[in-house]
Amino acid sequence: MADFSHLPTQCKFIAFMPQWDFLNFLAEQGRRYPGFHLETKTEATDLIEENGHVIGVRVTTPQGQREVRANLIVGADGRHSVIRQRAACPP
Ligand SMILES: Cc1cc2nc3c(=O)[nH]c(=O)nc-3n(C[C@H](O)[C@H](O)[C@H](O)COP(=O)(O)OP(=O)(O)OC[C@H]3O[C@@H](n4cnc5c(N)ncnc54)[C@H](O)[C@@H]3O)c2cc1C
Repeated sequence: MADFSHLPTQCKFIAFMPQWDFLNFLAEQGRRYPGFHLETKTEATDLIEENGHVIGVRVTTPQGQREVRANLIVGADGRHSVIRQRAACPP
């Protein structure tokens, strides 16, 4: 299709991968790291705030609702992001 070999990057190619394969690929690569933990079928429903700081998220899992607390919360839940809405961050 095109010659990418001259690009000043480490990976001089473009890879095409269906999203479902890519997500599995990311999960597999992540498992190489001891601190990696992935929870599927887990929906973020709200943010937990304490003293004006976001300190976690409320999630719904097949086992029920619970809280996940962390030093850093990254919302990456797409265009209808619940996290962005709860954080009152306009796109
Ligand atoms: C039909 C279509 C065609 C497109 N074609 C192209 C294209 O050709 N090229 C291009 O560059 N872009 C394209 N886009 C845009 C591209 O898909 C988006 O810009 C991109 O996927 C956004 O990535 P994201 O990670 O922000 O969100 P997403 O890819 O939407 O990922 C969000 C993830 O969060 C999960 N999620 C959502 N809510 C929650 C919640 N409450 N709790 C837990 N998880 C949650 C979702 O299940 C999803 O897995 C297209 C979009 C559409 C709809």
